[in-house]
Amino acid sequence: MFIKERVDQLVKKHNTNNPFKIAEELGIQIVYEQLGSILGYYSKTHRCKVIHINESSPREQQIFTCCHELGHALQHPEHNTAFLKANTFYSTDKIEQEANEFAIELLFNQGGDQIVTLREATETYGISEQLVYKNFCD
Ligand SMILES: [Zn+2]
Repeated sequence: MFIKERVDQLVKKHNTNNPFKIAEELGIQIVYEQLGSILGYYSKTHRCKVIHINESSPREQQIFTCCHELGHALQHPEHNTAFLKANTFYSTDKIEQEANEFAIELLFNQGGDQIVTLREATETYGISEQLVYKNFCD
């Protein structure tokens, strides 16, 4: 699977699956903002890639948001993508599905420091079980 291979390579190269560290090493800026019900988004202006994260979200949610937006930064770098909201987990939009798949592969990648378990993903991170199983049972 293309996304899984890409994530494996990324984790190996950076020696971590921490999305904040990977973004930093890739020169992608992370900013925390007041975003209301929006969890985060990715933008590119000129040559500057920025991941925007809701400063009021719980830390676990911010980690998932960072993974998702990092997926956009690497897979869809020229798009200013849609705002990530809780219901984006169920989005049928190809770009959003790819970012969710990337995020889950990164969170669960065994090559780095494991920062989340399946149980945490569904209970703490609010990621739908359907989304997790879809990506692990293919
Ligand atoms: Zn997205």
